Amino acid sequence: MTVEVVVIGSANADVVVRVERRPGAGETVLGSDTVLAAGGKGANAAVAAAKQEAQVALLGALGDDQHGELLRGSMSGTGVRLDLVRTTDRPTGAAYITVTPDGENTIVVSPGANSAVDVEQVEGAREAIAGAKVLLASLEVPLEAIERAVALAHEAGTRAVLNLSPVAELSPQTLAALDPLVVNEHEAQWLLDGETDLRKLLDLGPRSAVVTLGSAGALVIERDGTTEVASPKVTAVDTTGAGDAFAGALVTQLAAGDDLVAAARRAVRVAAVSVTRPGAQASYPTRGEVDSTEG
Ligand code: ATP
Repeated sequence: MTVEVVVIGSANADVVVRVERRPGAGETVLGSDTVLAAGGKGANAAVAAAKQEAQVALLGALGDDQHGELLRGSMSGTGVRLDLVRTTDRPTGAAYITVTPDGENTIVVSPGANSAVDVEQVEGAREAIAGAKVLLASLEVPLEAIERAVALAHEAGTRAVLNLSPVAELSPQTLAALDPLVVNEHEAQWLLDGETDLRKLLDLGPRSAVVTLGSAGALVIERDGTTEVASPKVTAVDTTGAGDAFAGALVTQLAAGDDLVAAARRAVRVAAVSVTRPGAQASYPTRGEVDSTEG
């Protein structure tokens, strides 16, 4: 199988219920009808990349259940290759989300099948990783599997990009292989331990770093300089999955040969469209829709 981009990461069913208020311990409250949506950072980024017309495969795991069918449908429907997805006897990962009228949410994640992604599965994807232009990793699957995938990419000369979400302690070898490390402001602060100069991220070892800055866009940090990439001004209605849209679009452009700054300029346009629409994967624009926005 030849693809340009391999995404290693999670696939979750998002199970969303709106409630007037959250129940306390031992209490039951009634909520809205359930909204079920395909999510998970890996699946989201893979769908974002496919909608930007990358040839992309997810390296992940699903259960043999209805949530697995939902994820398969949403990914294959947008062109994500599923050859590297393993079906396990664990249930598909799920995120149980309550949303209150003030817009705040609480989320319980049940990783399920995502926990079954292991080093052996990654080894089985060695050729696909070596044949790809870019590997994109995020951290809702076991760290050993991620670190092995990054090492295989590095050995083969495949560009390794990692979105450090949720935060985790990476080995120096993994950090040194990243080009770029992608973090949001909170993740950057966690890594820098209070240091406010974001350029210090390079002292941790990655060849380059990108810090996403919400409505302000992103900062691209390279050895020879730092570039601010402004976001188009939009009215945000739902920022769920914006970081995954950014990452998927960024790796699409890198695979197509853009330099990092050019790739980030396109990624902020993709993510900006995504926040103007509800949902995560459903909010991601096609390549043509982004072309028709002002860049
Ligand atoms: P999330 O957790 O919501 O997926 P994140 O915390 O990982 O996102 P952010 O920095 O909030 O990352 O957003 C990622 C990218 O999405 C930003 O770099 C920006 O391009 C775009 N974005 C997010 N919020 C907005 C907004 N309000 N207006 C325009 N673009 C936005």
